[in-house]
Amino acid sequence: MTLDLSGKTALVTGGTRGIGRAIVEALAEAGAKVAFTYRSSSDAADALKAELEANGVECLAIQGDAADTAHAGEAVQAVIDAWGSIDVLVNNAGITRDTLMIRMSEDDWDIVLDTNLKSVFNFCKAAYRPMMKQRGGSVINISSVVGVTGNAGQANYAASKAGIIGFTKSLARELGGRGVRANVVAPGFISTDMTAGLSDDVKDVMSTSIPLKRPGNPEDIASAVTFLASDAAAYITGHTLHVDGGMAM
Ligand code: NDP
Repeated sequence: MTLDLSGKTALVTGGTRGIGRAIVEALAEAGAKVAFTYRSSSDAADALKAELEANGVECLAIQGDAADTAHAGEAVQAVIDAWGSIDVLVNNAGITRDTLMIRMSEDDWDIVLDTNLKSVFNFCKAAYRPMMKQRGGSVINISSVVGVTGNAGQANYAASKAGIIGFTKSLARELGGRGVRANVVAPGFISTDMTAGLSDDVKDVMSTSIPLKRPGNPEDIASAVTFLASDAAAYITGHTLHVDGGMAM
């Protein structure tokens, strides 16, 4: 099945690197006009925008902190001003501040919850009314296997990712009657900058414990997101799609 997003507009938070970048590229390849946000990687943002435009894709690169409510409103408005609608919203921006609870500071907690969970509220709130008025839209929020299983040293991260699942189910119930769908993709262990710093031992242990016996690629996540964004998933809402090689079954 070919997934067709021609004529659709999409906004992806944290699009410059890793999973977000692969999502931006996949949505563009499926025919969407794509806007993406980023926090600080201006060179990567410029390079991605140039790559997409060279392929004839309309693109916006928007700098800002996803945890900032005003930035979220401005980013959604920029998409509507440029293209008249916001059809797909992917909340991908996320960070880790891993440490055991005994050492976890209030700042470790706040920055992870603000970046990973408050950002989802910010962007969904900004897109809520436009999608409601359009009577259509697809919201895809990126959680994590850890939001379902928990993980020692990641209480802040796991709480933020579990929160995304409850939030998304609530949004799906609120907006289903308006034709707006809201789903979660929960990645497992994916090779990106976020996991590059783990020791080889930890990576080996994780890979051998994954039923499919390999870490995932950003493209594995991007294809699931593209499916949920498309009309091929027209009857799916409130779902958490695990893309983790079998880690959390
Ligand atoms: P990376 O660290 O590789 O990339 C993070 C992206 O998010 C970058 O584009 C970064 O922008 C952006 N970003 C970070 N903080 C902010 C912020 N405050 N405002 C706006 N943008 C921000 O992460 P991954 O690609 O690995 O992860 C993407 C998502 O997938 C995250 O939500 C993560 O929790 C989730 N995930 C990842 C897994 C993995 O194994 N990698 C597993 C499960 C879930 P900039 O380049 O400007 O810093």
